[in-house]
Amino acid sequence: MKIMPNRLDRGFQMYKEEFEAKALEVLNSGYYILGPEVKAFEEEFAAYTGAKYCVGLANGLDALWLAFRILGIKEGDDVLVQGNTYIASVMGITINGANPVFVEPDSFYNIDVEAMKKALTPATKAVLVVHLYGQASNMEEVVTFCKENNLYLVEDCAQSHGACFNGKMTGTFGDIGCFSFYPSKNIGAFGDGGAIVTDNEKIAEDMKMYRNYGSRKRYYNEVVGANSRLDELQAGLLRVRLKHAEELTEERIRIAKRYTEEIKNPKFTLPQVREGATSVWHQYVLRCETRDDLIEYLNESGIGTIIHYPVPPHLAEAYAYLKKQKGDYPITEQYADSVLSIPMYNGMTEEEQSYVIEMLNRY
Ligand SMILES: *Cc1c(COP(=O)(O)O)cnc(C)c1O
Repeated sequence: MKIMPNRLDRGFQMYKEEFEAKALEVLNSGYYILGPEVKAFEEEFAAYTGAKYCVGLANGLDALWLAFRILGIKEGDDVLVQGNTYIASVMGITINGANPVFVEPDSFYNIDVEAMKKALTPATKAVLVVHLYGQASNMEEVVTFCKENNLYLVEDCAQSHGACFNGKMTGTFGDIGCFSFYPSKNIGAFGDGGAIVTDNEKIAEDMKMYRNYGSRKRYYNEVVGANSRLDELQAGLLRVRLKHAEELTEERIRIAKRYTEEIKNPKFTLPQVREGATSVWHQYVLRCETRDDLIEYLNESGIGTIIHYPVPPHLAEAYAYLKKQKGDYPITEQYADSVLSIPMYNGMTEEEQSYVIEMLNRY
């Protein structure tokens, strides 16, 4: 059997007729940028998360850097962020000239709140939490810490659409929640897409200005903004996906449950879910001390896997100027050396799941 780490075509096939009908509807409509589909998606996505406002954007990275831009985060400011994240989280900070202060992760791969408290500096202006792999971070403690220290709170929800902490959805705890709809995300478009959610009307209005060259009124530009508009076709297709969000999440939870119950091999550390948190299983990530050998073994068995992520941002060439070294963040680095994401996608058959489980148990 041949199993790829992800199968985006399966997610299309599940609702093929609906996607095709919507695509034709948008093509026939004559509206392609900032029209009725984007407006409807923004309303529906805000309602889905429980936030007051949603603003559609071109991608997740824009959501992050524009969020910090609007909050006034700039050169000289420190932003706390977990070390074990996708590099886009960090770029959202550094594009604004601000300084990322890396914090070690906890055993759930989210920001370690005790380490976060110790990392506070006089220059700290904001915290960026990343609900990595689909699991909500320890938001009760994070929110309290931000309030006590008068810090902005931004959430990177690129992997956590629909994940909750104490029943409240990720993206709604802080000032701004940032989402990506890159095709492989849990709610994925058929191209690039992103959004922010917020309860703050001014932030929402400012974001609408920034995404469109800094203009509220056509050809009257207040700031140097961006071209970061979600297009009508993606918004329409995202509305189809959003309609099925609950069943898509439930399917991932079912697959993860099988993995957790049936993978029995002392060589692996399986993922755990924190009390009060839910995971929407963007990835199912296990750790293995002989990871590279495991990858080879699985490859030979026809099973593809991905490392999320092999190089932590503090050791990336792009951030050489931060002058960090190997050994500076040992937990982050240990995770980078041992994590492995096994196949997890909507439309994964039971036979495929069984085969992955069997081969992992035989390792
Ligand atoms: C995918 C991702 C992003 C960036 O989203 P894009 O739409 O690709 O720009 C940011 N942060 C995390 C954690 C991601 O997984």
